Amino acid sequence: MGRVYNFSAGPAVLPEEVLKSAAEEMLDYNGTGMSVMEMSHRSKAFEEIIGTAEADLRELMNIPDNYKVLFLQGGASQQFAMIPMNLMKNRVADYIVTGQWAKKAASEAAKYGKVNKIASSEDKTFSYIPDCSDLPVSEDADYVYICENNTIYGTKFKELPNTKGKILVADVSSCFLSEPVDVTKYGIIYGGVQKNIGPAGMVIVIIREDLITEDVLPGTPTMLTYKTHADAKSLYNTPPAYGIYICGKVFKWLKAMGGLEAMKERNEKKAALLYDFLDQSRLFKGTVEKKDRSLMNVPFVTGDADLDARFVKEAKAAGLENLKGHRSVGGMRASIYNAMPYEGVEALVAFMKKFEEENL
Ligand SMILES: *Cc1c(COP(=O)(O)O)cnc(C)c1O
Repeated sequence: MGRVYNFSAGPAVLPEEVLKSAAEEMLDYNGTGMSVMEMSHRSKAFEEIIGTAEADLRELMNIPDNYKVLFLQGGASQQFAMIPMNLMKNRVADYIVTGQWAKKAASEAAKYGKVNKIASSEDKTFSYIPDCSDLPVSEDADYVYICENNTIYGTKFKELPNTKGKILVADVSSCFLSEPVDVTKYGIIYGGVQKNIGPAGMVIVIIREDLITEDVLPGTPTMLTYKTHADAKSLYNTPPAYGIYICGKVFKWLKAMGGLEAMKERNEKKAALLYDFLDQSRLFKGTVEKKDRSLMNVPFVTGDADLDARFVKEAKAAGLENLKGHRSVGGMRASIYNAMPYEGVEALVAFMKKFEEENL
């Protein structure tokens, strides 16, 4: 039995320590005689699991007291509707469209009000982040929306947009906990956890308290109202309990690794290894503008679709899995999230060097 280096964009690699510890506790969690999957979400044991997970996340991200942390279901995509339903008091919102996920979020919001696309990078296949220092932010916008790290295209906002005083809402699914953030700059930070934190199907929403109101759009379901979940501390109904448990283990792992400053350093080192190779390679090249490169998702191409396909196939045979790029970009994409060890990127670069020598 051997583990591969898994470069999947999501669901994605998790820390081996976390998987091993979950395996050890599978039949008997902490003397309860049952798995976390089998226990009541109202039990003492689970109360402690969710409480500790929240406390550790607050510590890692330095989340101020006037923000709530919600552990919800429906993945990141459910937030595409939940955000406008809860925040669109004027029925107007500004969206910065830097990829498919932001685009999907914008079209969902358009079901509930007027959506202004105040910036986009679609003209160049989303290969860059537009200048967001002086955007035509709408006077009556309820919020400005971004997708902070574009999983498919491999770009990241290195600076947050100037929202001119409007609430900033950010989808951080694929850069969650990859580096320190200043939570106070956002109204909502949210992300599906299957990219960088835990099992699919769950989303973490960090939301400023004043945005949690009963004044939601008419017809908003109880389950899609932030207040429902904030009032019930994410236990309004049965939460994604096992997912929360695994996320909690990943938070502990991150703390043991030295927290988000240390993760940033580690992630920069890993990404530099791959980007430096791409920049001098005669066969492979990166597909996005250097200044906007993501630390998490690294797309690259050879320029020859058949050669790309062969690379993906041979890499898989060598234990380097899920390197095929998204169908809208083609080529390859290496997702090198928090849990990807440096050795995994070293193995990838060594394989790319060998492939380059054999195919030039
Ligand atoms: C994967 C992803 C999503 C969708 O997540 P689901 O949990 O499948 O809904 C949304 N936004 C970004 C940035 C993603 O990477």
